[in-house]
Amino acid sequence: MRKTEFIDREGNAIDMIQAEFAMKIDDLVGDARRIAITGHTRPDGDCTGACLGLRRYLLDLDPSLTVDVYLEPVPAAYDMLEGFETVCLYTEGEYELCFVLDVSSRERLGKNATLLDHVSRVVCIDHHATSEGLGGQDFVVPEAAAACELLYDIMNKEHISLETAECLYLGIIHDTNVFKNSNTTRHTMEVAGALMAKGVNQTRIINDSFYVKTYLQNQLLGMALMKSLIFCDGRCIVSVISRKTMDFYQATHADLDGIVEQLRVTKGVECAIFLTELQFRQYKVSMRSNEAVDVSQVAAYFGGGGHVRAAGCTMEGSFYDVVNNLSEQIVKQLDEE
Ligand code: 5GP
Ligand code: MN
Repeated sequence: MRKTEFIDREGNAIDMIQAEFAMKIDDLVGDARRIAITGHTRPDGDCTGACLGLRRYLLDLDPSLTVDVYLEPVPAAYDMLEGFETVCLYTEGEYELCFVLDVSSRERLGKNATLLDHVSRVVCIDHHATSEGLGGQDFVVPEAAAACELLYDIMNKEHISLETAECLYLGIIHDTNVFKNSNTTRHTMEVAGALMAKGVNQTRIINDSFYVKTYLQNQLLGMALMKSLIFCDGRCIVSVISRKTMDFYQATHADLDGIVEQLRVTKGVECAIFLTELQFRQYKVSMRSNEAVDVSQVAAYFGGGGHVRAAGCTMEGSFYDVVNNLSEQIVKQLDEE
C-alpha cells in the first residue's frame, strides 16, 4: 500500500488519501491509449490549469498517446497555458479513459457530460467537499486547496515539465486567490514552491491571468459595485448583472470574474452574493464568505455546492425571490453564531 503524505497547517504530517486512492497518475493511466480530460461548466483557473496540466504531463510521459481536453469556452486570460488552443467542446469520439477534474457530478459537466457515455473508464480527481463522486474511481480530497494541488501530489515529480508546472501554478493561485484564502495550507505553499523550482514565472502568471482586467471587465465590476445592496446590518451584500446588460455589452461569464471577490472585501461583510441572470427568472448564484457563514451549505441546500468560503448554485425566480431564499439560509447561520 502506497501512502501519500500531506502536511497540515501546524506542519504535522497527515495521511489524507484513503489507501485505495493512494495511487499515482501513471498507474491510473494503465494501458489506455486514447484519453479524454474534462472539467466543470464555466471553467475557472483551477479547472483549466488541471485539464491542460494533465494533458501536457501525459503527453510528456508518452507522446504517442491521444489526449484531448474538452471544456466549455475557457477565459482568454488563461491563454498563456500550453495547449490552450486545443481545448474544444465534446462532440464525438471514443476513449478508453476519461479524467474528470475539479468536479464530480455529471450535471456540473454541462455539455461535456455525454462524453461519459463514450468511455470505458472514468477517473475523477476533485477537491469539493460537496462532491458526490461519479461512481468510477473517485479521488476526492476536500483538504486540497485546488484540484491542481491534488494533481501535483499524484504526479511523478521528475516528469513535471515547465509547461505542466505553469498550468498547475495557475490553478493554485486562482483557487486560493493568490494564496490568501483560508484553504491555503503549508502544503499548498510547498507545492507552489516546488513548481517555482521548475522555472515558473510567477509574476507573469499572477498578473496576466489574475489581476489584469479588460476594460469591459472593469466596467462591469464598477456597475455591479454601484448597484450592490447591503442587508443584515451590513453583514451581507448582494449585486446582480442582468441578461440585458450582458447582451448589450456582449459579455461572457468570464467577464464577471472577480466581482464577487470584490463584494466580499467590503468592510463589515460576512457573506457576499453575486447573481448573474442566465435567462428570465433564472440566476447563477456565486457566494463568498469571510468567517461566519459556510456558503457550501447554503449552495447545497439549493442544489449546488462548492467550498466553505466559495460556493454556487443556480436558482429560479425573480431577483427578490432568490435573494430572500438565500438570505433566509444565511441568516440562520448568522443567528447560530
Ligand atoms: P464560483 O462562484 O466561482 O462560480 O464557484 C465557487 C465554487 O463553487 C467553485 O468551487 C465551484 O466549483 C462551485 N460551484 C459553483 N456553482 C456551482 C453549482 O451550481 N454546483 C456545484 N456543485 N458547485 C458549484
Ligand atoms: Mn477547484
